[in-house]
Amino acid sequence: VVDLAPVLDRPDHVKQNLRQRKSPLAADEIDSLRDMQLEAIQLRKDLQAARERRNAVSSAPRDDTNARREASEVKKRIKELEPRLNALTKEIQAVALQLPNLSHPDVPIGDESQARLVRSTGPEVPSSAEAENARDHLALSSPSNLAWTDFPSSSLTTGSSWPLLLNEGALLEMALTNYAMSVALAHGFTPTLTPDVVRSDISERCGFRPRDGEAQQTYFLSDGESTSALCLAGTAEIPLVAMSAGQTFRADQLPVKHVALGRAFRAEAGARGADSRGLYRVHQFSKVEMVILCAEEQSNQVLEDLRAVQEEILGALGLSLRVLDMPTEELGASAHRKYDIEAWMPGRGKWGELSSASNCTDYQSRRLGIRYRPAASAPSDGDAGTGADSGSTRTHGPKLAYVHTLNGTAAAIPRLIVALLENGAVLEGDSGRVARVRLPACLKPFWLGVGTDSRI
Ligand code: AMP
Repeated sequence: VVDLAPVLDRPDHVKQNLRQRKSPLAADEIDSLRDMQLEAIQLRKDLQAARERRNAVSSAPRDDTNARREASEVKKRIKELEPRLNALTKEIQAVALQLPNLSHPDVPIGDESQARLVRSTGPEVPSSAEAENARDHLALSSPSNLAWTDFPSSSLTTGSSWPLLLNEGALLEMALTNYAMSVALAHGFTPTLTPDVVRSDISERCGFRPRDGEAQQTYFLSDGESTSALCLAGTAEIPLVAMSAGQTFRADQLPVKHVALGRAFRAEAGARGADSRGLYRVHQFSKVEMVILCAEEQSNQVLEDLRAVQEEILGALGLSLRVLDMPTEELGASAHRKYDIEAWMPGRGKWGELSSASNCTDYQSRRLGIRYRPAASAPSDGDAGTGADSGSTRTHGPKLAYVHTLNGTAAAIPRLIVALLENGAVLEGDSGRVARVRLPACLKPFWLGVGTDSRI
């Protein structure tokens, strides 16, 4: 499933990629992976030769004792080689599945601090980067102020960081969701509602390692006795990509574009401090997510197009925004390149990430068997397929290729509420009370007006 050509042809590049991404897979594993792969190639050749020999001697006359002796030796050899190759192939796949995607050559190298600023838009950010305590979203939205959130109540029911939205807080989520969905639909995305539960191996094939050491980021479902193979999806990207697993598209069916509203569930193990206060980092949140499957030569441009849709959605909200080309250590397992968009959040006195868009190239499609038949520009040279073809495109044509998959946030609700509230609240003098909240006009058509607070 995994493309091992770079491990064979450019092992130093693969090792450097692991180091630059701070991948959990150690760089010296590449040498043993390469050795195993070379051994597997040799075993395959030996097996092929033994099978050819078996076929040759099996047609020899019955009284040819030499040939019969050789036939039984060759049979024995095949019986030895087959299980060795099978075991080795499994070992190779187990390591290979842990390989992260290769980074785009223009991706900055290093940690978060190395992110490259692509563009800033919206109102100018105050020069003093002090947190304005009076604009902290938690104080503004608390039951004693706007009453948009009720963390004390949700803590009793669920524990901390499970948000409960009330009043205009709840209406704002619905308006933002439908607004973001409407922009995506205008760009040709198919509206979709996916399950919020996925199989954990599917999550893993999409690049989310549910059982990755101690930093457990996934909630597993349990039947009361043991953990099941199902988990709560960390993002609708997983069901949106996986819905095409095992399919083969015709080139003219691409790009395939879906947008879904889903609930994202994140254990956020290890998250502490100011960033986990209030709505900023929670265990469950609503997110409108876009996923595109496209031909391989299109994916760099499609990433730019996806980012443009995100800029359109966020740009109309009147926020100060910056677009960042994210560095190698921020790419996770699946991304080849990733752009984040951040908004200025005065209550935090910091920029906060609102959305991200990633080009995962063939990382997910290889692991899920999602392919396409490129347009017939060259004479047929056969299929790369191994029988997973869905059958819809069984015409002869160029070799099958893996689609490239891309994903992008259209709206991650809680942080949008943080940004809109902290920037839009008009305060009554120094009291910390909210007189009104200015919300962007683009939300108006999506606002359920009944009982709306006159302060909006
Ligand atoms: P990701 O799928 O991790 O790229 O996240 C997409 C967007 O969801 C981010 O840009 C954030 O705006 C938001 N987000 C991620 N994790 C959380 C969380 N734990 N709580 C609230 N929002 C989050």
